[in-house]
Amino acid sequence: MDCVFCKIVSGDLPKATVYEDENLLAFLDIVPVNKGHTLVIPKKHYPTILDANPEEMAGLVKVLKVVALGLKEEFGYEAFNIHQNNGSTAGQVVDHIHFHIWPRTAHDRMEIVFPNDGVSYEDGEMEHFAQKLSRAYDNLRLGLGS
Ligand code: 5GP
Ligand code: ZN
Repeated sequence: MDCVFCKIVSGDLPKATVYEDENLLAFLDIVPVNKGHTLVIPKKHYPTILDANPEEMAGLVKVLKVVALGLKEEFGYEAFNIHQNNGSTAGQVVDHIHFHIWPRTAHDRMEIVFPNDGVSYEDGEMEHFAQKLSRAYDNLRLGLGS
């Protein structure tokens, strides 16, 4: 498979490893937004969150926390963004699910822009979204292995 992160997992491409176990790998991003910018991935190739294995994702969240703690304890970072893109419209470039840990400093060059006013729900539409999503959650829960 022509996947850059699968090649990093297999050792066909070099990596600066932060953490590794049977299922998961954390390594430094080659174009860091700040020094220490880390990527955490499952070793298996899942393109997006929709494909990923929930148990592996639960373990991955622990790694996110420990890496963030390491960035704080070893390098003094006090703030982080955990960032994850699904699909090219959302900015995903590498088609192998990955979580970014962006360590932040007060005067770094990063700018995350959200529209202040968001979008608006019509009357009753918010409840409609919540009900449909909770039904979908109930229907899918068993298949998700939780
Ligand atoms: P995306 O936009 O898909 O969420 O982010 C992909 C990330 O992978 C980028 O931050 C990019 O710098 C990183 N990346 C791409 N190729 C390599 C590589 O060969 N090695 C490492 N360590 N990071 C890479
Ligand atoms: Zn892959």
